[in-house]
Amino acid sequence: MKILFVASEATPFIKTGGLADVGGSLPKALAALGHDVRILLPGYQAIAIHDHGFKVVADLTLPSIGGTARLLQSRLPDAAVPVWLVDYPPAYDRPGHPYLDAQGREWYDNAERFAILCRAGCSIAMNDADLDWRPDVVHCNDWQSGLIPALLGNEPERPATVFTIHNLAYQGLFPADRFESLGLPAHLWGIEGLEFYDNLSFIKGGLVFADWITTVSPSYAAEICTPEYGCGLDSLLSQRRDRLTGILNGVDYDVWNPATDTLTTNHFDVADLDGKKASKQDLQRLAGLPADPDAALIGTVGRLVEQKGVDLITAAIPQLMPRKLQFIILGSGEARFEQRLRELADRYPQQLAVFIGYNESLAHQIESGADMFLMPSRFEPCGLNQLYSLRYGTLPIVRSTGGLKDSVVDTNAATLADGTASGIVFAEASSEALAEAVRRALTLYSDPARWRQIMRHGMQQDFSWRRSATRYVGLYRRALAAADDRGESKG
Ligand code: ADP
Repeated sequence: MKILFVASEATPFIKTGGLADVGGSLPKALAALGHDVRILLPGYQAIAIHDHGFKVVADLTLPSIGGTARLLQSRLPDAAVPVWLVDYPPAYDRPGHPYLDAQGREWYDNAERFAILCRAGCSIAMNDADLDWRPDVVHCNDWQSGLIPALLGNEPERPATVFTIHNLAYQGLFPADRFESLGLPAHLWGIEGLEFYDNLSFIKGGLVFADWITTVSPSYAAEICTPEYGCGLDSLLSQRRDRLTGILNGVDYDVWNPATDTLTTNHFDVADLDGKKASKQDLQRLAGLPADPDAALIGTVGRLVEQKGVDLITAAIPQLMPRKLQFIILGSGEARFEQRLRELADRYPQQLAVFIGYNESLAHQIESGADMFLMPSRFEPCGLNQLYSLRYGTLPIVRSTGGLKDSVVDTNAATLADGTASGIVFAEASSEALAEAVRRALTLYSDPARWRQIMRHGMQQDFSWRRSATRYVGLYRRALAAADDRGESKG
C-alpha cells in the first residue's frame, strides 16, 4: 500500500511532544511491514536540512498562495522512508518553536502556515507534484493537517483519508474571516463543514470529512464521545462512532531500550537489573540529591500544563515529604507551574530536584534511574512515558484515563495473584488521591521481592510499533472500502 503520512512534527527532525514520536516511528514500522510510506512535514528553520541531506525534488504550485513552494526530500535516518519538507520561507523560515512565538503565543499566521502544509499534502495526494507517486491513503495527524480530508472530499479518484486525533484539546480555531482569505471553497463553510461556533476549525476538516478517524488509545476513543472529554466535539464524534477507532501508540524500542540506550551509561534488562541501581545512583548525583539507595526516587517528565496534572503534583509534594522519597521533575510549559516547582525545589533541596527545559538525554536518564514514574494526567490520549517506564522497570503511577488506563494494570490482590500487575492506577484527579497512590507505591516498594515481580512483568510487556502498525494497515483497508462506498454513492 502507498501511504502519505502528513504531520506537523516527527523525530528526529522536529519534536514538541508525543506526536513527533509517532511521526518518526509509525511510518518506519509500516515500511518494515512492506508498505511504501512517505512523510510530509513543514520545512521549519529548526530542521537542519543540510545535516539531514535534504535536496529539492519538486516545485509545488499551491492554490490561493501567491507563490511557489519547493519540496525537499531526504529520508528517515534508520529506515527507507522518504521524508518531504514543504519549503516555503515566509511561513516556516523563522527561529523558534513550531507553533509559538518567543512570547509563547500562537504564531499570528498559523492558519496560513498550516493551510500551506494541507495544500501541499493535497497536491501530492492527487499526484499533481510531478513526483510520479500517488498514495492509496493519506494519513493526517491533528489539526495542522485537518484541511486535507475536507479539500480532497470532492475530488474524483482521490485517495482514502484517515485522520488521527493525538489531542482533541488542540483544534486549530481561527476567526471566520480566515476561511475566505485561505481561499477555501464555499461549500466547506457551515456547521456540517469547517465552522465551529462562528470560527474556522481545522480539526473539523478531519473529523467531518475523513473516511476513518482514529485516536491513540481505545479508552480515549470512548472518552471523547462524552461531554466531559469531547471539547465541544463529542456530538460530532458520537455521530461518527462507527468510523472512530482507538489504536494505542507503540514504542520505538530501538530508541527506548534500557539494554542499549545510547543516552544512558548503565545498561540493564529483565534478567540483570544491577545497571538500574547504578543508574539510580548516577541520577541522584546529577540531581544533587543524597545518593541513598533506599529512598524511593520518583521521576516525572512532560509538558508543564494543566492536562498533565502538574498542579496535583505540586499540591501533593508537601504532603508526601515526611516519607523516605525523592522527586526529580523535568519539564517546561506554563510559567505558573515552572515557578511553583522552583519554589518547592528551594524548600526541599534534599528531596526535590527540578529541571526546567527540554532535555532528551535527561528524559532517558530519569526513565533509567528512577524507581517510579508519576503521570497524574487529567486526560491522556495515549501517553508515552508510562510505556517507556514499563520497559525501564520504573513503576508507573498513573490516573485512570485514556491510554494510561489502557496500558498500566493496577496492583491489587487479584492482579498480584494472576501476575498482571504492572503499576499503580488511581481514579480521582485530586492531590489527596495522588498522594494516596504514592503511599501505596511506597508500601509495595518496601517489599523488594514483590516490587521486582511487578517490575519484571512490566519490562516484558510488548508495546512495540509492529503490533500497532499492523492494526493501522487493517484500518487503512477499511478506509479504502469506505472511500469507495462514498464515491459510489456520489456517482
Ligand atoms: P504529549 O504529547 O501530550 O506531550 P506524550 O506522553 O504523548 O505527551 O509524549 C511526550 C513526549 O515528549 C515523550 O517522549 C516525553 O519523553 C517527551 N518530553 C516531554 N517533555 C520533555 C522534556 N521537558 N524533556 C525531554 N523530553 C520531553
